[in-house]
Amino acid sequence: MTRVNAPERAALIDLDAIRHNVRRLAEIAAPAAVMAVVKADAYGHGALPVARAALDAGATWLGVAHISEALPLRAAGLTAPLLAWLHTVDSDFAAAIAADVDLGCSGWELPQIVAAAGLLGRSARIHLKIDTGLGRNGCTIAELPALLADVARHQAAGQIEVVGIFSHLAVADEPERPETDAQLALFHEAVDLAHAAGVHPSIRHLANSPATLTRPDIHLDLVRTGLALYGLSPLAGRTPASLGLRPAMTLVTQIAHCKEVPADQGVSYGLNYRTPAATTLALVPLGYADGIPRIATGGPVRVNGVTYPVVGRIAMDQMVIDLGEAGLVTGGHSLLGAEAVLFGPGDDGEASVDDWAAAAGTINYEVVTRISPRVPRVYR
Ligand code: PLP
Repeated sequence: MTRVNAPERAALIDLDAIRHNVRRLAEIAAPAAVMAVVKADAYGHGALPVARAALDAGATWLGVAHISEALPLRAAGLTAPLLAWLHTVDSDFAAAIAADVDLGCSGWELPQIVAAAGLLGRSARIHLKIDTGLGRNGCTIAELPALLADVARHQAAGQIEVVGIFSHLAVADEPERPETDAQLALFHEAVDLAHAAGVHPSIRHLANSPATLTRPDIHLDLVRTGLALYGLSPLAGRTPASLGLRPAMTLVTQIAHCKEVPADQGVSYGLNYRTPAATTLALVPLGYADGIPRIATGGPVRVNGVTYPVVGRIAMDQMVIDLGEAGLVTGGHSLLGAEAVLFGPGDDGEASVDDWAAAAGTINYEVVTRISPRVPRVYR
């Protein structure tokens, strides 16, 4: 039995890689500041350790979607400016204001934010969210003058401070598409309307990772970077290395069972895969409850320097690889306990997050973000 010193099941998070990526993004974005987008538990990497590492390396802002994601960061003692931009009518605006969390405001939130600030006897920090073409939340240009009139009034009354104005891009990952320029032009129009209404947000922010990497003219005062912070590429055909980024997550486990089987052995639910010849099957104890997409049969698993595709259906807790001739040569049971790497930075020849995204018919964002809490995060 070749027992490698592999963790039982872990997402290894390389905080040095996070720090490296932040420094790289800060260099690209300068003089704009960098917001580390740590929503969705830092895209599966762990919000608190990532936020600390990012701030340590020069990010000056943190960004999340929900107030409920922001509050634990404050409770843990992080004091950097922190923006939450997606709310419902039941969001706890008072808790956010009390914790000095900046609030994205599309319009409908304003009366609730003002009321919460009033109860606390404080001024709320807001960022006006403009829909420049993505068609999600945000105030349209047509709605903006009316919102600005309300904003100016509440600002004069000291109930709010308009810290920022922002929008989100729809196709920045496809740099050749014209819509990004249209969004930028509309954004500048929104900023001009704000100034004309006596509202002067000091921080304009529009760029996500792909715009940060490809469009210096969109950096403005602050870039909101998520994916690139984690060392993944938002641009088709560009590897992380070609962008100067280092992938931060390695998904690793140990082979949990090895067995020799004859030809025509069915494998996993549905028996969709049948061994073409006598072979050795190895069990990888990660499944869709761990966030591995069930559809990703064929996804690559690296064991002892060889990459094998997953065969048969991915189950809730486990998946199977067919060691084929290599398994018979080494003797089936020899791999019990061996390290199995699904993806990582590629330093040891392991597959990438992008390889798994391709196997699952999805994007790298989804692969890392879906890795479930059942998989321990191990920081190094
Ligand atoms: N800004 C907003 C409003 C977002 O929703 C997101 C993520 O979806 C980001 C920035 C970060 O995007 P990316 O991960 O492409 O950098």
